[in-house]
Amino acid sequence: MNLDVYRVAIPLAEPYHLSKVYGTRTHADTVIVRMTTAGGAQGWGEGDPGGFDFTGDTGEMIMASINTDLLAEIIGTRVDDWVESGQGLQRSGSWGAALDIAAYDALGKLHRQPVWALLGDKRRDEVDSLWPTSSGTADADLQVIQAKLAEGFRTFMLKMGSRSIDEDVERLSKVAAALSPEVGLMVDANQGWQLDEALEFADRIRDVPLVLIEQPLAAADHGGLAKLHEACQLPLSVDEGLQSLDDASTIAAKGIADIFSIKVSKNGGLRAGLEIAKTAKTHGISILMNSMLELGITQSASLHLGCVLDSLVDCGHAYMSTLRMSDDISNFSDFVSRGTAQLPSGMGLGIEVSENKIRTYLKDECHA
Ligand SMILES: [Mg+2]
Repeated sequence: MNLDVYRVAIPLAEPYHLSKVYGTRTHADTVIVRMTTAGGAQGWGEGDPGGFDFTGDTGEMIMASINTDLLAEIIGTRVDDWVESGQGLQRSGSWGAALDIAAYDALGKLHRQPVWALLGDKRRDEVDSLWPTSSGTADADLQVIQAKLAEGFRTFMLKMGSRSIDEDVERLSKVAAALSPEVGLMVDANQGWQLDEALEFADRIRDVPLVLIEQPLAAADHGGLAKLHEACQLPLSVDEGLQSLDDASTIAAKGIADIFSIKVSKNGGLRAGLEIAKTAKTHGISILMNSMLELGITQSASLHLGCVLDSLVDCGHAYMSTLRMSDDISNFSDFVSRGTAQLPSGMGLGIEVSENKIRTYLKDECHA
């Protein structure tokens, strides 16, 4: 097997203001992997580090950690062994995800099968997408939401946690009052609140039928989440707190979340995402297919996984990431139309990846 690794930075169409923990993002920082098997099948993978505060890594850190020993170990593997023996579970984070996605893509192409067929039984051919708004004002939210409603989106994720609870409550109430009840609203605080703030927020917006509140508290604050879960009627989702399969087992056993926010890149790949979803299912926990700031390889992998899961939350999921970029290295955006993502029908991930685009946005590369 040969490996080509590229670090690529693509500017966002518009800067993205997150909570006070993360500040503002302007680029998608990605690591792209191409695996070429001895027989010539090519698989593409992508890793999307969330930055030091989110996933603990960056594209630069991943490239710096790649050495000849690491690459020699990987190129000594066969993609069928990789998938069958669950190699993806041995590695974590976005680098593990990039390798795991590439192995699934290559194996799918080798066996002339779509990636979903390597993951399970297909439950659906398409998934509605949500649209996120930056952490801002109600008027700014409504401007984005009205435009995206006209384009076919029906679920919106409001980023909160960077302002006072008074401001966030006022903002959400104003947005909810301006929209029809069929529009789904969710809130993502990105760890931005203390327990007393989250309790106050949940109490004051209890009449707003939110789809979910995501990561209200610090990722490791399981004690706080347990108290909030007991007091709050709204479904609580974990995102930053759900990095690994171990996190999934721990949180599920404690019974302190209703929804797991799966991100293929954050969670270390397709196999890890699938196992997390299985753990969730046995504990009655639903799944939100979510995304980092990611390009079309990860988005496509996430869609293949989302199409085999039978416990998705009844709302839009995060398949809009490439639409928020100024460009992409793949044609995934062609499969998102009127706010819905359609499963590509080709072999493997079913998308095309442009080497020219990789060259255009290239920051660093290595080959083995
Ligand atoms: Mg989140």
